[in-house]
Amino acid sequence: MEYRPLGNTGLRVSALSYGASPLGSLFREVREADGIRAVHVSLDRGINFIDVSPYYGLTKAEAVLGKALREVSRDRYILATKVGRYSDDAFDFSAARVTASVDESMQRLGVEHIDLIQVHDMEFGTLDQVVEETLPALRKLQQAGKVRFVGITGLPLKSFRYVTDRAEVDTILSYCHYSLNDTALAELVPDMRAKGVGVINASPLSMGILSNRPPPAWHPAPAHVKEICARAAAFCKSRGADIEKLAVQFSVINPEIATTIVGSANPDNMEKNVRWIGEPIDQQLLADVMKILEPIHNVTWTSGRAENN
Ligand code: NAD
Repeated sequence: MEYRPLGNTGLRVSALSYGASPLGSLFREVREADGIRAVHVSLDRGINFIDVSPYYGLTKAEAVLGKALREVSRDRYILATKVGRYSDDAFDFSAARVTASVDESMQRLGVEHIDLIQVHDMEFGTLDQVVEETLPALRKLQQAGKVRFVGITGLPLKSFRYVTDRAEVDTILSYCHYSLNDTALAELVPDMRAKGVGVINASPLSMGILSNRPPPAWHPAPAHVKEICARAAAFCKSRGADIEKLAVQFSVINPEIATTIVGSANPDNMEKNVRWIGEPIDQQLLADVMKILEPIHNVTWTSGRAENN
């Protein structure tokens, strides 16, 4: 496993990291044991960065992750969670709510500090509130020793520029903007580097559209994007290859991105994901797939308030 510096935090994070959102899935029992094993397999294979949120499974992902982490020494992982988003349509970025939220998360996770606290999907709020109220409240928690670093997350890249121009943040977490079909995050990297902000990329499989399985019904990508991604997946299959492998390898190769978060509650998939990044990428397959995806390159969707997109 390769480890990379996370902005100016002094932390070194594994190039591939673990996203715990699938631990919040509503299919229970068996999945929970598998999910716990997926966490342990990831850590055993060298992953040291884990991302979660109270939103995932409406607190369930944090609770299951907490069970998995109780058996693991605290110095083996860098733990990131979030504040501000609590369901599909419940957002509260107020100082009072985010302050209480950190205590609730620590309790569910069974930890005495959180390494990275992030404002979750900030584009659903007003960015001026994030700058003037949410981030200062999180900095107070940093002074109190409850959190070590403070970051922001969301979909529209424009909102990262807006907030990092006006407030100090340690990291940004962008998703669906550095994978085979969308590399728009690369355009933001020089600005973030200049500001000393660590760049975290999530969803190398573009939340499941770069996959042989059909994407979930809620997937927000436009229909033609899903269609062309499915064509690329079928092409890989016809060559005896997995688009998932190509996708994970592609996202991790860029050294400017500190870490890429992939989510799975399946220990075998996490074992594969880590193995794949140690193997050389098939350059011919990559070129062929990029050609198929070219018509939809960087085609995205809106998220949150119109003015933040
Ligand atoms: P992803 O691109 O990682 O895709 C996940 C899907 O791919 C899941 O259905 C999973 O089962 C499947 N998968 C994973 N490995 C596989 C393999 N080897 N073979 C076949 N299928 C495989 O998207 P994601 O789960 O949305 O994102 C990853 C993580 O990033 C999340 O868990 C979360 O922690 C983080 N994230 C954060 C935000 C945010 O903060 N706003 C948004 C998106 C994602």
